[in-house]
Amino acid sequence: MITRSVSALSQALAAREISSVELTQLYLDRIARLNPALNAFITVDSAKSLAQARAADEFRASGTVAGPLTGIPLAQKDIFCTKGWLTTCGSKMLGNFVSPYDATVIERFNAAGAVILGKTNMDEFAMGSSNETSYYGAVKNPWDLTCVPGGSSGGSAAAVAALLAPAATGTDTGGSIRQPAALCNLTGLKPTYGVVSRYGMIAFASSLDQAGPMGRSAEDCALLLNTMAGFDERDSTSLDRPTEDYSAQLAAPAGGRPLAGLKIGLPKEFFGATERSGCSPEVLQLVEAAITEYRKLGAETVEISLPNMKLSVPAYYVIAPAEASSNLSRFDGVRYGYRAPDYDDLNDMYAKSRAQGFGAEVKRRILIGTYVLSHGYYDAYYLQAQRIRRLIANDFVAAFKQCDVIMGPTSPSTAFKLGEKSSDPVLMYLSDIYTIAVNLAGLPGMSIPCGFANSLPAGLQLIGDYFAEARLLNVAHRYQQATDWHLQCPPGLG
Ligand code: GLN
Repeated sequence: MITRSVSALSQALAAREISSVELTQLYLDRIARLNPALNAFITVDSAKSLAQARAADEFRASGTVAGPLTGIPLAQKDIFCTKGWLTTCGSKMLGNFVSPYDATVIERFNAAGAVILGKTNMDEFAMGSSNETSYYGAVKNPWDLTCVPGGSSGGSAAAVAALLAPAATGTDTGGSIRQPAALCNLTGLKPTYGVVSRYGMIAFASSLDQAGPMGRSAEDCALLLNTMAGFDERDSTSLDRPTEDYSAQLAAPAGGRPLAGLKIGLPKEFFGATERSGCSPEVLQLVEAAITEYRKLGAETVEISLPNMKLSVPAYYVIAPAEASSNLSRFDGVRYGYRAPDYDDLNDMYAKSRAQGFGAEVKRRILIGTYVLSHGYYDAYYLQAQRIRRLIANDFVAAFKQCDVIMGPTSPSTAFKLGEKSSDPVLMYLSDIYTIAVNLAGLPGMSIPCGFANSLPAGLQLIGDYFAEARLLNVAHRYQQATDWHLQCPPGLG
């Protein structure tokens, strides 16, 4: 049962082959058995999950037409405010925070009848690429327990890869859905900025943050996105567009080769034609093999250029910390969250609460952000980074005049060892060299499994034009119909 896709589980529930309570219990038992070694969940509350499952079963028994997610257990990243649940965002700062309300994403899953299996571990305030900055400890990669699962949605990735949940949510500010998906052999989608509401999703860098699904296939991601996407008046950057049925758009058009006419853009900056692409040869080889498969399916490839790509990491590490320093100013020990036990006066209480409540990476970002926004440096750093951001977005606009989808690696390497990069922040920041530009431009991006190097999974990145989620899912789905990389499970866990 646990190796089935969300859509297959949905059919099993509809056919009364299993009840939601039984299915939820199956996953809870697995979590109890395997989570101690993986540390993928921060909070599990069986009673709450089973109550939701029972409600889903009753709903179905009442004869009401159930939706595809009714009774489906899902893991939720601990960045989403979840009513009555501890919502820590991976930080000591929120170690005692029980949310009084639901994020829109949670509200939508609840309305769809989905069951919350637990809250997944993550890098502190989503800052990281390895899930090692979590106050609740590092997450282990189910493919190799000595390796990182990627970050910041590392708990969600490990949970789904180890079959502790059929699918999960993630958030992606600079790559945090796509990179852990790549490192754990999952399919993950970061939608166009504004497609999924950010209301109740704890803010890291508001102009970049976007939530999306992580699952074992494009088909499952489409199913989750159908529930997640949609206008929300409580998020001022939410886009009011007609709703789409992403699942319905997965099917290949009849006749001809499945992807005939699709133009795939291959950025020369990714493939090392003119510059060092920074990608490991093994990963590049797998990505190239995936592109060969796409050609077999009927797609054409064109070389494109994203000339300002190399500036994306430096621009991001000005803009994201600037926004974070502002967003994190609300954690002051007064209203909610951690408060230092001993202090002299109000200022001392602020200082000690923040000094004790935040970890090293979060403090580093707050310092950088405050610096680049300060008088005298604002023009030189923040404004300059915003100009670069525009140039990067323009590169993509030009590229999409030549192609329908851009492809390349998701991450420059497969999963690295725990501790390998934690003492070198810049090396860690370079893990997102292929993903960050997509957030800066606000575009949708996906990662799909494309093979293994030394028994560790690698990801193929698909980048689409604005609002091309349906196309990305469709292009990913057709590859997954022709290949079985995405069906591989970590040894001993399948
Ligand atoms: N690794 C990047 C960072 O640390 C991106 C994180 C994210 O997407 N949340 O900022």
